[in-house]
Amino acid sequence: NRQIILAQRPQGMPDETHLQMQETDMPSPGPGEVLVKTIYMSLDPYMRGRMSAAKSYATSVAEGAVMEGATVGEVVESNDDSIAVGDYVLAHGGWQEYAVQAAKAVRKLDPAAAPISTAVGVLGMPGFTAYVGLDEIGQPQAGETVVVSAAAGAVGQVVGQIAKIKGCRVVGVAGAPDKCRHVVENYGFDACVNYKDDDFEAQLSDACPEGIDVYFENVGGKVFDAVRGLLNDFARMPVCGRIAHYNDSEAPPGPDRLVAFMGQVLVKRLRVQGFIQFDYRHRYSDFQRDMSAWVRNGDVRYQEDIVEGLENAVTAFQGLLQGRNRGKLLVQVAAD
Ligand code: NDP
Repeated sequence: NRQIILAQRPQGMPDETHLQMQETDMPSPGPGEVLVKTIYMSLDPYMRGRMSAAKSYATSVAEGAVMEGATVGEVVESNDDSIAVGDYVLAHGGWQEYAVQAAKAVRKLDPAAAPISTAVGVLGMPGFTAYVGLDEIGQPQAGETVVVSAAAGAVGQVVGQIAKIKGCRVVGVAGAPDKCRHVVENYGFDACVNYKDDDFEAQLSDACPEGIDVYFENVGGKVFDAVRGLLNDFARMPVCGRIAHYNDSEAPPGPDRLVAFMGQVLVKRLRVQGFIQFDYRHRYSDFQRDMSAWVRNGDVRYQEDIVEGLENAVTAFQGLLQGRNRGKLLVQVAAD
């Protein structure tokens, strides 16, 4: 059983010295457990947080332990009546080829209803994040302007399409011309600007002639700086992620913007609220009902970026933190 462990906590960008491949014996399921062969392994930005010892909303991965993460796999041994060999399941197998899981902790998937990979993408955690963050905190109204950063990624692509369904003007921010083209041409965004362009701030302002009512924050950094000045009175800002800072090992260079921003929060009566998707578990059935219908009828489309082989997981994860992925990033660990 090949697996990737957190050998050492990274400072800055993680690499193969921090995330090491090792081979272990095949695990064996006990009573009430199943053995799952990983087909797809999800790579997500939160995993960078799990590599750090800093206190957060979830426990860090211990040094020497297998990196954690959601997986989609096939049950190859079962000691529980509710799950049969051959069933496809959503599991929490981590970065490895095989994982023992409590039968109660996995969810059966119906491959006839949707491609199984979508259980960690548009129909799974990232899709749910977009759905609840926008609905509960963003609360977009028809005619308003919604801006989303990391617009071509797993969460961002869904945020923009839901905002279109709600009748908003949607402006994406992404880090490559092909990503910007993709979200406009394939997802119906009204505009998308590249934050790496020299005149990014002017482009963003032109794309938002009536200001910004909802900013779905995925990145922080210079994108947040540019958005700040365009926020309207009573704008809402769901703070979903800050990926531009996940590899920071010291405070970013000044000037300190906090005093100015808090002044804006007051004067413009902004609502800035961080959220973690699992706090909204009670909305999961709403999400499943709406998102499966939208995907089925084509209102929500999605792009997956599938990297072959567990041995390429570390490079792929680095790419996620550098914008090399095109859509929801997955590793294909075994054939479907
Ligand atoms: P994506 O598929 O969007 O991939 C990450 C993208 O982030 C990259 O492709 C890159 O796109 C962008 N990025 C990387 N570095 C920077 C940078 N320095 N500045 C601006 N953009 C950057 O990932 P996800 O959709 O899975 O996640 C998006 C965000 O949502 C992350 O911040 C993540 O932590 C957060 N999240 C939060 C959850 C919650 O419950 N709060 C749950 C799930 C995700 P580009 O080319 O555009 O730079």
